[in-house]
Amino acid sequence: MSRKKVVVLGSNFGGLTASLAVRHELHGDVDVTVISPSDHFVFNPSLIWLPFGKRRPDDLSFPVAPTLETHGIEFVHRAADVIHADEHRVSAGDRDYAYDYLVIATGYKNNFDVAPGLGPGGNAVTITSLEDAIKAGERWRAFLNQPGDVVVGATQGASCFGAAYEFLFNAAYHIKKNKLKSRVKLTYVTAEPFLGHFGIGGLPHGESLLKMFLKKEGIEAVTGASVEYVDTDAVHLASGQDLPFRYSMLIPPFVGQEVVAKSGLADPKGYVPVRPTYQTTDHDDIYAVGIAAAVTVPWQTPTPVGIPKTGFPTETMAHVAARNIASQIKGEEPADEKPFEDIKAVCVMDAGNNGVIILADKMLPPREHGVMIPGPQAHLMKLGFEKYFLWKARNGYVTLP
Ligand SMILES: Cc1cc2nc3c(=O)[nH]c(=O)nc-3n(C[C@H](O)[C@H](O)[C@H](O)COP(=O)(O)OP(=O)(O)OC[C@H]3O[C@@H](n4cnc5c(N)ncnc54)[C@H](O)[C@@H]3O)c2cc1C
Repeated sequence: MSRKKVVVLGSNFGGLTASLAVRHELHGDVDVTVISPSDHFVFNPSLIWLPFGKRRPDDLSFPVAPTLETHGIEFVHRAADVIHADEHRVSAGDRDYAYDYLVIATGYKNNFDVAPGLGPGGNAVTITSLEDAIKAGERWRAFLNQPGDVVVGATQGASCFGAAYEFLFNAAYHIKKNKLKSRVKLTYVTAEPFLGHFGIGGLPHGESLLKMFLKKEGIEAVTGASVEYVDTDAVHLASGQDLPFRYSMLIPPFVGQEVVAKSGLADPKGYVPVRPTYQTTDHDDIYAVGIAAAVTVPWQTPTPVGIPKTGFPTETMAHVAARNIASQIKGEEPADEKPFEDIKAVCVMDAGNNGVIILADKMLPPREHGVMIPGPQAHLMKLGFEKYFLWKARNGYVTLP
């Protein structure tokens, strides 16, 4: 019998983990090809530091081809254009790639359409990609020469609230460090219904903790906000409130990549509906993991908020998918299941020289346990985790925690 062929779309958290894990599960007895327009892995959690000059692009990224090739995986540096699900092949540029099993790990792109003036190249900056974070740094340096008010936040429909808070507290830290505190009014504007919601419904004492942190730093907050448009010098809210700024960083909502919608596999937000096995709802041989996988928002908030599909759940989904593909290749049922809501929440939020460790037994409520542990150890933990994760990913050690 010929070796089975697994094609993985995407080479970041989900794609790197799934491709290496499926090879591992089958002791190398499978052909794996990764197709991706990014030839570098980017450790997004460190993008919050790049605008402040604490990281350079090379510090938080590495080329993926050597990692994959060392583990016997073929890397194709191009974007997938369309998935022909009924014919089990993917078109990418001028070539087609046949597969027995496909993993979609194409992640997200920014949806700037929610408010004029957001971007690309808008009046506010963002940090949701390496290119965006580089531009955010250029404008931060200009801001230091000509300081004024700062507005940081996340728009309606955003999901990556953790990054907005991290940027906020890092901005506060650097404003103080540059002795600008008396000249800068710092405002946090968010779609969250309350501080510390994070898009996961909040955690015990989270709101009071965040309120305390903001008060200590003299940061004003506007919750439940909807951005109407971003002018050159002010964020205008649908409520009529204006938030003037010299510098603004806003996290926009994410949507899935075009290839998914173009292939008829997407929900209205461009994400792929999946079963708890991470097989797509309609195809037993196609999986979707990480941000590309659709997750149902279990609540309605006055202003829409998305759900953050962070690194740990992304890796978990990728491992579940890899185990199930291995089972299918061995002629077994794909029986491994881990619905998104039941995956543990594990996150470290940095605040410059301080931070918060966030732990919960489940990503989404109802939960039995959830805790937020503030303190400088969180900052040190994030520094240590960054080094560990990049070492682990660069070497392809996906079986390590
Ligand atoms: C600023 C920021 C800070 C964050 N901080 C944290 C944190 O502290 N902790 C945490 O756990 N998580 C954090 N996250 C979330 C984390 O980055 C995501 O969970 C993770 O990136 C999801 O991985 P993914 O592989 O699903 O998607 P992505 O990382 O988006 O990767 C998608 C991959 O698909 C590729 N691709 C795109 N289009 C195509 C195509 N057409 N064909 C083939 N490939 C394609 C891309 O090039 C990329 O390689 C943060 C995210 C951001 C933006």
